[in-house]
Amino acid sequence: MIKEKIYYSKPYLDNSDLNSLKNVFKSNFLTQGPKINEFEKKISQFVNSKHSTCFNSATSALHAACFSLGFKKNDILWTVPNSFVASANCARYLGGKVDFIDIDQITKNIDIDLLSKKLIKVKKNLPKIVVTVDFGGNPVLQDKIYKLSKKYKFKIVEDASHALGAKYKNYMVGCCKWCDITIFSLHPVKTITTGEGGIATTNDKKIDRILKMFRTHGITKDNLYFKNKINNLKDWYFEQHFLGFNYRMTDLAAALGINQLKKIKIILKKRNAIAKYYDKCLKGLPLQLPKLSPKSLSTYHLYPIQIIKKNSNILQLKLYNFLKKRGIITNVHYLPIHLHPYYRQQGFKEKQFPVSELHADSSLSLPIYPDLSFKKVKYIVNSIKDFFSKN
Ligand SMILES: *Cc1c(COP(=O)(O)O)cnc(C)c1O
Repeated sequence: MIKEKIYYSKPYLDNSDLNSLKNVFKSNFLTQGPKINEFEKKISQFVNSKHSTCFNSATSALHAACFSLGFKKNDILWTVPNSFVASANCARYLGGKVDFIDIDQITKNIDIDLLSKKLIKVKKNLPKIVVTVDFGGNPVLQDKIYKLSKKYKFKIVEDASHALGAKYKNYMVGCCKWCDITIFSLHPVKTITTGEGGIATTNDKKIDRILKMFRTHGITKDNLYFKNKINNLKDWYFEQHFLGFNYRMTDLAAALGINQLKKIKIILKKRNAIAKYYDKCLKGLPLQLPKLSPKSLSTYHLYPIQIIKKNSNILQLKLYNFLKKRGIITNVHYLPIHLHPYYRQQGFKEKQFPVSELHADSSLSLPIYPDLSFKKVKYIVNSIKDFFSKN
């Protein structure tokens, strides 16, 4: 029996992170200092994008992304039910409508066949934006979505909240080869953290300018874009062009992000090693294990196992409680977005997206994080084997 509880995720923090915060503290630039720029440059170098914009969360980055793509009242956004609510809420902030495409049973990412069928079927009510989600850090087959976006003229926001450091066909997620904007989350459960935080990457200069204005009230300080006629431009002058928000990241958070990014290779290596071990040890049990997209590298933000057996929903709860008694705290990703009361109010019902619903009713995300020791991983594996020898 292990004394300390094992949770499904844990940030990878050490003294170097603490020191990065101390240095900002001493500089007195708690926010809007030089660290934001530095972090944005480093993220762009890492994912190979032209531009990056930091936000105080991925949720605000998603809101800004939709705004920057011209998404307006009554426009339509499609995403998957198997995600965190923020992937859909970004449309609602702007008065838009949300609809869903179910996931495929194998990768748990958007079902591309269903997407193309729905695009053919809806004729007029085409989406303005499709938000794809790299579930658990496993990249979506973004090139295929991109092809459809050209035919049906929608924009793509890749919600890569789980996937900083992931690769698809040798392209870094975030390089925006097959999407307009990529979003990363820096919440403490994600690959690297800034406390709260998010990033949007893009290769489009104009989109990037709107993203940066949106995070700071819709304000620009760049005289290239000023609209008022002014003869004597004063240093302190600035203009607000549209209604933005205060969605800025602090310099403290950015400094932490810069330090965390230095460790991302080791973080990914460790997560992948744990996943490989789970893959090997859990084979042969009545479980569907995570299945990677071809030619991709996953961040393994999550390691969800799906029980493939009769009465899987009963077994799900039983296994959850069995593991909890042993100090292993698993979780479910995700309660389908369309079944939250807020979305039911908009007409969504049970059985509408059966693959996502079954996944929610039969899966558990196992603990996976960089400093989860192999001793603990073995303990988790043995506990699961123990459970299935009795059930
Ligand atoms: C975590 C997460 C978000 C929201 O991220 P925040 O930084 O907490 O706002 C959005 N989408 C997905 C898929 C997530 O997992």
